[in-house]
Amino acid sequence: MYRSHTCGELGIKDIDREVTLSGWVQKVRDKGFVVWIDLRDRYGLTQLVFDEERTPKQLLEQAKALGRETVVRVLGTVIERASKNPNRTTGEIEVLVKELSILNKALLPPFTIEDETDGGDDLRMKYRYLDIRRTPIRDNLIFRHTVTMEVRNYLSAQGFIEVETPYLIKSTPEGARDFLVPSRMNEGQFYALPQSPQTFKQLLMVGGMDKYFQIVKCFRDEDLRADRQPEFTQIDCEMAFVEQEDVLQMFEGLTRHLLKAIKGVEIGPFPRMTYDEAMRRYGNDKPDIRFGMEFGELNAVAQHKDFNVFNTAELVVGIAVPGAASYTRKEIDKLIDWAKRPQVGAKGMVYVKCNEDGTFKSSVDKFYDQEDLAQWAKITGAKTGDLILILSGEANTTRAQLSTLRMEMAERLGWRKPDEFAPLWVIDFPLLELDEATGHYHAMHHPFTSPKPGQLELLDTDPGAVRANAYDLVLNGNEIGGGSIRIHDKETQAIMFKHLGFTPEEARAQFGFLMDAFQYGAPPHGGIAFGLDRLVAILGGQETIRDFIAFPKNNSGRDVMIDAPATIDEEQLKELHLKVDA
Ligand code: ASP
Repeated sequence: MYRSHTCGELGIKDIDREVTLSGWVQKVRDKGFVVWIDLRDRYGLTQLVFDEERTPKQLLEQAKALGRETVVRVLGTVIERASKNPNRTTGEIEVLVKELSILNKALLPPFTIEDETDGGDDLRMKYRYLDIRRTPIRDNLIFRHTVTMEVRNYLSAQGFIEVETPYLIKSTPEGARDFLVPSRMNEGQFYALPQSPQTFKQLLMVGGMDKYFQIVKCFRDEDLRADRQPEFTQIDCEMAFVEQEDVLQMFEGLTRHLLKAIKGVEIGPFPRMTYDEAMRRYGNDKPDIRFGMEFGELNAVAQHKDFNVFNTAELVVGIAVPGAASYTRKEIDKLIDWAKRPQVGAKGMVYVKCNEDGTFKSSVDKFYDQEDLAQWAKITGAKTGDLILILSGEANTTRAQLSTLRMEMAERLGWRKPDEFAPLWVIDFPLLELDEATGHYHAMHHPFTSPKPGQLELLDTDPGAVRANAYDLVLNGNEIGGGSIRIHDKETQAIMFKHLGFTPEEARAQFGFLMDAFQYGAPPHGGIAFGLDRLVAILGGQETIRDFIAFPKNNSGRDVMIDAPATIDEEQLKELHLKVDA
């Protein structure tokens, strides 16, 4: 027998009990006449004790010689500790060891396996299995399991069926590149790994499954941005015979349940905001509404004087930062430099201090009088003591810049609290998005999203104005889920493909199976997918998803532990009918 108990469960109630424990040696404290060892397993730490008085000499020597991370089994008696450790569940007891066997030796680990580690990111990733022994990572993985179980149980109780869909498929466009897998048995042909199970879940609706979900890996070959993974996990869902309202209700229910079950917070009905409103008020389609600092558009009150920067701008827009009028000139200059960094991209920034005495002091006093500035304060909601920050330029770019600035100021003000949750729905997204580089429209969500009723005709005259039955669930400034009501008839789908630049032949070649299926009685349907990694990280009160993934890839998409991707040998290349030389 390897163990009668785990290293996390013994306490005062077990005094005098004979126990067997197995685990890893975390720390050896050798005081000469007495040796203490912290023994670790998944469940916790238990202190082992060996001393001159009660331990045979040979066993004492053996204990002293144990290296860190050695795997051992011990047999001993639970005794009360003289000096108790209230920070540990097992802190009131220790085990006086009678027998010790070494189950496996261990090399000296390349970093300390404790809550605080001296290991850098790369090292921890290379030896991820050691990193997982550390409490924070272990707890994150267990936390992820808990969230996943809550999701499964909730959806199952609502009548959803988990169905697996294939990984070796044909392209499903979600706006990224596909990972491709060459087919050995079909020369010159490739599978694509799914960017999502989108078409399959729609086919399941045609198949009458009615309510589907799947906790599923998705693959997107994107240029890696910070904290993105080329493979990630979605909670993918679809329902038949539903309207947008039904989907929103169902998944608001799921999210509310998770917040209650996992975080113990009760949240009322989620606010809803159209995409246009979110852009206007927050400059962002995933606004963090834990705090205000809403945008105030100043065109009408700032474009009547000789300040050309504003006069030539498409948009002049500002936010009022509470209490920041006390910023010194130097601090403001630093903030302006911050806004001008390439990551933010502002060309400059105008500021107005709302002084305690009710007067205003701005960087554009030459052009604007107190009355003008009072108007700006009114529109941005600034009070005495606030600092108004104003950006101007092309509307979309300026909104994005001010949104970044808003988040930064909220961070500085300590308003981005990890234990506060403010979900909302953003609805009525544009159906299409103009790709500035090519001048072509592409689907903002994906090509299977239906336009709002009655808007199909607009596609010919003003494609950018068409709104979709598409929605995002936003939590604390992150998009945690997104979905839509789908097109379910062949004709509409054909019109969509045409507007996305597919010839009928191309559409048939790529999506013929779906268009065919629509002819055999496709029910109205819609759904949503949540990004599980992000959701878990936010619920866990952390920013990085990597710490909630057992074996993540680094920022260049590499698994540095197994060293993938890797070259393959010529034999394999040949077998796969891939050319060896370029
Ligand atoms: N397939 C979509 C996505 O991966 C989600 C959905 O429309 O249900 O973003």
